[in-house]
Amino acid sequence: MDAERHAHARPLLSLVVPFYNESAVIEAFFNAIVPVLCGIPDIDYEIVCVNDGSTDATLDKLLAACQADFRVRVIDLSRNFGKEAALTAGIDEAEGAAVIPFDADLQDPPEVIPKLVAQWRCGYDVVLAKRAERRTDTYAKRGTAALFYRVHNAISDITIPDNAGDFRLMSRQVVESLKQLPENRRFMKGLFAWVGFRTAEVEYVRSPRIGGKTKFSGWKLWNLALEGLTSFSTLPLRVWTYIGGLTAGFAICYAAYLIIRTWVRGVDVPGYASLITAVLFLGGVQLIGIGVIGEYVGRIYMESKRRPVYIVRDTYRLGRR
Ligand code: UDP
Ligand code: MG
Repeated sequence: MDAERHAHARPLLSLVVPFYNESAVIEAFFNAIVPVLCGIPDIDYEIVCVNDGSTDATLDKLLAACQADFRVRVIDLSRNFGKEAALTAGIDEAEGAAVIPFDADLQDPPEVIPKLVAQWRCGYDVVLAKRAERRTDTYAKRGTAALFYRVHNAISDITIPDNAGDFRLMSRQVVESLKQLPENRRFMKGLFAWVGFRTAEVEYVRSPRIGGKTKFSGWKLWNLALEGLTSFSTLPLRVWTYIGGLTAGFAICYAAYLIIRTWVRGVDVPGYASLITAVLFLGGVQLIGIGVIGEYVGRIYMESKRRPVYIVRDTYRLGRR
C-alpha cells in the first residue's frame, strides 16, 4: 500500500473528522465536502471519520459512506472518549502528507480547504484557519473565549492564537511531532501550538451549525478551559507562594500595629467582627489554594495511570474491515 502510494506523485490529503451523534448532518457533510476535495488539483484525499461512541445512526451512515467511496475510512471508538481523543485517534490513523482536522457540522466552510492546501504548497508546515470574526457565537461564548485566550496566553509559555480552533492544515512532519507527545490528557489546541513550525494563516468566517446540536455545554467548556490552563502552565500552583507571602507580610505588620497600640492604649477586648472575618477569609483562601493543587494532583494521578487515549473497536475501509 505504501509503495503504491509513493509510486505516483500526487500527495495524499487526510481530512480527520470526529463524529459524535451527528447523524443529522452526515449526508450534507459528504455532499458539501467531496466536490471541494475533488476540485483541488493534483491531490488525492482520504476522509478519516472517527465515530466517537455515537448512540444514534452515525456509525451506520458512516459505514454506508465508506461502502460507497474507497476514500472514506471509518474508525469506530469503543465508547465516547471526547473530541480531543477522537481527533487524536484520527490523526494517528491518517496517512496523508498533509492532515486537516475538520468538524462534522460544517461550521468550518469546506471552501477554505483549497486555500490551506495552497499555502502548504508555498512551503508552510502549518496553515492556521483563523476566524475573521465570531458573529455566529453567542455574546457569552465570545466573551468567555476571549477571556480564556487572554488568561492562557498570559500565564503559559506557548501562545494559542485566539480565534483559531482545531481547523488547520499540518504537514506530515508536524503530525509526526505531535504523535511523539506522550501525554494522554490532550488539549489539542495547546499541543498544536506547542510543536511550533512555520505557520501561515488564512482567515475565514465561521458559519452556524447546519443541523444537530452543539456537544459542548458551558460545563464541558469550563473543564476544557481548565485542562488548557493546567496543561501548559504551573503558574496557578506557584502563585500561592506569593499570595501566602503577602498575607503573612500583612499579618506581621498588623501584629506589630496591634502590639504598639496595646502598649500605648492598653488592652481592648472587642474585635469579634474583624476576627471572624479574618478567619473566614483566610479559610476560604486556603481552600482555594488546596482546590488548585487538587486540580493538578488529580491530573497527575490520571496521567500516571498511562491509560491509552482511546480504544478502537474496529476500523473500516472499502473492501477491508
Ligand atoms: N465531538 C466528538 N466527541 C465529543 C464531542 C464532539 O467527536 O464528545 C465532535 C462533534 O461531532 C463535531 C466536533 O467534535 O464534529 C465539534 O463539536 P461541536 O460542533 O458540538 O462543537 P462546537 O462547534 O459547538 O464548539
Ligand atoms: Mg460545531
